[in-house]
Amino acid sequence: MRYVSFSQDGVVRPGILEEHLIHPLPDEFASLIDFIALPARERAAYKSDVMPVEIGEVKLVAPVRPHKNVFCVGRNYRGHAEEVARATGKPMNLPSVPAFFTKAPTAIAGQEQTLHLSPEVSSEYDWEAELAVVIGQVCRDVPEDDALSMVFGYTCINDLTARDLQREHQQWFKGKSLDDACPMGPWIVGTDEIPDPQTLQVKLRVNGVVKQNANTSTMIFAVAKIIASLSRGMTLEPGDVIATGTPDGVGMARTPPEWLKDGDVVEVDIDRVGVLRNRIALAVPVAATR
Ligand code: MG
Repeated sequence: MRYVSFSQDGVVRPGILEEHLIHPLPDEFASLIDFIALPARERAAYKSDVMPVEIGEVKLVAPVRPHKNVFCVGRNYRGHAEEVARATGKPMNLPSVPAFFTKAPTAIAGQEQTLHLSPEVSSEYDWEAELAVVIGQVCRDVPEDDALSMVFGYTCINDLTARDLQREHQQWFKGKSLDDACPMGPWIVGTDEIPDPQTLQVKLRVNGVVKQNANTSTMIFAVAKIIASLSRGMTLEPGDVIATGTPDGVGMARTPPEWLKDGDVVEVDIDRVGVLRNRIALAVPVAATR
């Protein structure tokens, strides 16, 4: 099954996607997270009786906006750890446990949304294609063997990063959390369609040119290990999102480095999940508040 959040006539609603038809969930579900929080058996048997709408007639938004920061894993592919070490001139220390950090939920954007990034804030906007996990139930201290049964589904995230801010502020949070720096979507694909998340090809294209291309089988920490580690002594909740790290091929490690430019179209393409597509707009915002 595939799950979306969409905007129609200014109202955002969750729905279940079948082919090109969205079956909106009834009003009792204020967001997709309310549906994700149902017991798995109820979810699987759920049938919406709301009139379906054509996907082409509505605007998709990010499938979920979690109640907390988006969890992320840094350096989870060997190739990326190597290229970062090379680009920064630092020795490569492969992590022995996942390196967790987070992105602010205000950074979340949706499918086909133009990402407005200010050239006054950063001059080094970079891409990171990632498989993202959406948690399906309240859980803590999850053993690795049970971890995949806590997953609701998978989506694509572009962990956009202002490299200069990431460097200057030392802690990564600021450089990873600018508005529009966490596009997510286009939808969530349920675990019924992806029983094994370690078999998916993750690609990123800028203006059609492939920049990243690796298989999730080469992750340092598999999804089950990530969930087991993150949930140790810490509660995870329905709708929590974990971005699982990016493969090699980011802009900062290229010779010369490549940064996103005004008008670039960036696509995160993950097997059996979908293609998340966003255009970059580098412009100083008209107003500082919105
Ligand atoms: Mg990342």
